[in-house]
Amino acid sequence: SPAASCPKVCIVGGGPAGFYTAQHLVKTRPDVQVDIYERLPVPFGLVRFGVAPDHPEVKNVMNTFTQTAQHARCSFHGNVSVGKDVTVQELQEAYHAVVLSYGAEGNRTLGVPGEDLAGVHSAKDFVGWYNGLPTNRDLRPDLRCETAVILGQGNVALDVARILLSPVDILKNTDITQPALDTLAESSVRRVLIVGRRGPLQLACTIKELREMVNLPGTRPEMEASDFECIAKMLKVLPRPRKRLTELLLKVAVETPEETELERRNSAKRAWGFRFFRSPLFKAVTEDIKAKLALVFQQGEGEDVWAVTTGEVEDVECGLVISSIGYKSLPIDPAVPFDPRKHIIPNTMGRVQKCAGLYCSGWVKRGPTGVIATTMNDSFDTARTLLHDMDEGTLDISTVKPGSAGVTTILEKRGVKPVLFSDWEKIDSEESKRGEARGKPREKLLDVGEMLKVAWT
Ligand code: FAD
Repeated sequence: SPAASCPKVCIVGGGPAGFYTAQHLVKTRPDVQVDIYERLPVPFGLVRFGVAPDHPEVKNVMNTFTQTAQHARCSFHGNVSVGKDVTVQELQEAYHAVVLSYGAEGNRTLGVPGEDLAGVHSAKDFVGWYNGLPTNRDLRPDLRCETAVILGQGNVALDVARILLSPVDILKNTDITQPALDTLAESSVRRVLIVGRRGPLQLACTIKELREMVNLPGTRPEMEASDFECIAKMLKVLPRPRKRLTELLLKVAVETPEETELERRNSAKRAWGFRFFRSPLFKAVTEDIKAKLALVFQQGEGEDVWAVTTGEVEDVECGLVISSIGYKSLPIDPAVPFDPRKHIIPNTMGRVQKCAGLYCSGWVKRGPTGVIATTMNDSFDTARTLLHDMDEGTLDISTVKPGSAGVTTILEKRGVKPVLFSDWEKIDSEESKRGEARGKPREKLLDVGEMLKVAWT
């Protein structure tokens, strides 16, 4: 039949990269069949488990992904961990092409002593906890402290700061998990310091995230004016996006606010601020880490981009440290080349180097930076490369491949049962139902076992 001989492509990872790659493939080529394999029983990757609960508008992309999953020539197979349940080689035998879009599930570490202390978490785990990632379910961060320190100044750091400081009234109608909401409701955190090794001109967040921080009800900024002394005169030479970000930063940090803003700040019970030119040293100085996790900062040098040791150290009394210095991709299968320094799959325009028929897209292709729109463009690029190779004949599609039928047989033998998109829709409606009861868009299931039970009944 024509369906049996159509080009078959499989995608590893059901996040934005996977869905956008699939979307472009099925839209552009009328005969291609695309199957997405996802480790978790639920789709959408970091849109579900990364994007902050108070950013519901960002999650609207799930509607587009759902349309792709429901396309006649696309199918979703959740609960399949590639590299474990099925190898990449087995996928290559079943499909004409395999696209690796499995994101960045690892965590960059600081490499300083004390990183593993109680009270020190990675942003990745903390975000996973408030967003209901099953592996982070039991994190239970202790928020019975006045000051929290976040190491890193990118968008994820600001997400974490905002969630820690948001009035619970704002969060309670989002899809934040109930255990996280309950913990935040009891939180004693009143002050969040967002620490970076570099200076205000290198601040790594976007203006949207900074603006949200500035406008967060019940909070006031608390900066050190001296950090900004030399900045104003540099505004003129800055490129436009940097200039706008810096102008906002200066306005918040050094300008005297007008009266209503002053009143707002004076009545605020919670505070946040950036701390620049500081590099974490850790080394707990006290015995009682839970009560006082002493942080030692190494102070950098003036306007230098990278912190240079001055010999000066600073103790910050805090009970919670969240390190937000980035994600990193991990190798999932020894058969796939991996760059251990850049933590990506080495590729040329999405073609995995020296591996015919193997492609990659998203964070595993270019590293863990960029918003969903960046990931979308990057995934469309990979899809274009793949289609080009099909057209040119450098990707062989002349043989008949079994596609998902072949993989299903392998999985069955290993006792692995995939969660199809229609199964996910049962989880989705159960979550919506539970959410409705609490005035939330959804109440996420937190346990893989429970997800599977709902999916298959
Ligand atoms: P992912 O989204 O991580 O998807 C990868 C998928 O692969 C996951 O579902 C994973 O379970 C699956 N997988 C992993 N290993 C395997 C395996 N072995 N087998 C099968 N499947 C596997 N962007 C915005 O535009 N706005 C925001 O507000 C925003 N907030 C963010 C907040 C946080 C905390 C983070 C980390 C990122 C945020 N982003 C935001 C960026 C956005 O999430 C990324 O650009 C995008 O998710 C990257 O897509 P991806 O598909 O490459 O990776």
